Amino acid sequence: MSSSTSFPTELITKYGLAGPRYTSYPTALQFHEGFDAEAYRRHVQFSNDELIPRPLSLYVHLPFCRSLCYYCGCNKKVTRNESLAGVYLQHLEREIEMQGRMFDPDREVIQLHFGGGTPTYHDDAQLQDLIGQLSRHFFLSRAENREFSIEIDPRTVDNERIVRLADMGFNRVSMGIQDFDPAVQKAVNRVQDEESTLGLIAAAREASFKSVSVDLIYGLPLQTAESFETTIESLLTARPNRISVYNYAHLPNLFRAQRMINTEEVPAPEVRLQLLDSTITKLVDAGYVYIGMDHFALPDDELCIAMNEGTLQRNFQGYSTCRTTDLVGVGVSAIGKVGDSFVQNRKDIHDWQADIDHGDLPVWRGIGLSGEDRLRRGIISAIMCQGHVSFGEFERKYGIEFSDHFALEVESLKPLQDDGLIEMDEQTLDVTPTGVLLLRAIAMKFDEYLLKDAKGKSYSKVI
Ligand code: SF4
Repeated sequence: MSSSTSFPTELITKYGLAGPRYTSYPTALQFHEGFDAEAYRRHVQFSNDELIPRPLSLYVHLPFCRSLCYYCGCNKKVTRNESLAGVYLQHLEREIEMQGRMFDPDREVIQLHFGGGTPTYHDDAQLQDLIGQLSRHFFLSRAENREFSIEIDPRTVDNERIVRLADMGFNRVSMGIQDFDPAVQKAVNRVQDEESTLGLIAAAREASFKSVSVDLIYGLPLQTAESFETTIESLLTARPNRISVYNYAHLPNLFRAQRMINTEEVPAPEVRLQLLDSTITKLVDAGYVYIGMDHFALPDDELCIAMNEGTLQRNFQGYSTCRTTDLVGVGVSAIGKVGDSFVQNRKDIHDWQADIDHGDLPVWRGIGLSGEDRLRRGIISAIMCQGHVSFGEFERKYGIEFSDHFALEVESLKPLQDDGLIEMDEQTLDVTPTGVLLLRAIAMKFDEYLLKDAKGKSYSKVI
């Protein structure tokens, strides 16, 4: 997208309906409890038995936080009682051992992500111990191009600690900022010093982290276009490699924490559009490339390179450059992706611990993909990651006639074509620069489950 792209307010209003983020397809709403631990074991075995088994990604969920951010919709446990976290880590060790036994020991882990909650809730000794357990039960890559990342809360990490995290082997870091404005910070109960956060970005770079990624949120209470511009201008002085600017979805009926937010202070839709407009303009003018789905990156960042080379992937953390892997999720509520299946652990911490105490894998639910799911997953991924769908490629791979198989979908895309979100002919679909802002709305046309029911109402809005 170029900075000259004018902001399509009307189209965003028209197509900014509720929709999934497509970090997976089918989405988690389709996971079911009929997919149990036995089904998961079978899929792992199939994946081990492949001629060339895929390398692994590991996701470790660390749900503890010291205080509650009112906008939060994550699976987290807010407590200052550190003994609870100790009990959690003991159970995690047993799950890591159980899962590690299932995968062939020569399957290399090329991507590791500690997510939360707040992984840096735990002290260095605990994190180091966790890495030690992972390396005992999985083959952690030592290659230069491995991606080992950790989410940090700048309120729990100082410049010395970031160096220690690098020494542990992490080479990518993402940190939550959300907004530097003190009034907004107070309204969402996340007060975090601007100067030390900016200093931490610089310290991470000095500590040789290959990529520093930060999260902002627009649509928070008391935000104005001007105040958010000030936050962005300040952040740009630190020039992080990647910036994600998420849309705050105010869903207090779904997320209890959000009931602490004064609904009257949440920006009106027209202000949210201004926030988005000025954010895109500022970041693009500053040289960032809009990847899609709220993600911006510097042109020399691996995400941009992967986008240009057509190798960008989408996973539960957003966009990724890693070649195709099987994803092993450990910890409460963690999601895995092995072969043609998704699996999710129990989301209640007590249920998760009880399963492990019984020596059982703490599987809650999942889904094995049908051929139709795989076909549609491929198309949705092509839209979200490459902005380009070659119909012939899917015809050859799946033995279909695209125009017959997707007659309804192609018809339903025509208004989007007329509105300039896509260009489409007999053989290809291409997302336009305007369409990049509305990727979800385009991808949703190929979501068979949305076509079947009206569950879209339980998603956040596209913008
Ligand atoms: S936003 Fe992050 S730090 Fe805040 S409560 Fe949620 S998980 Fe914890």
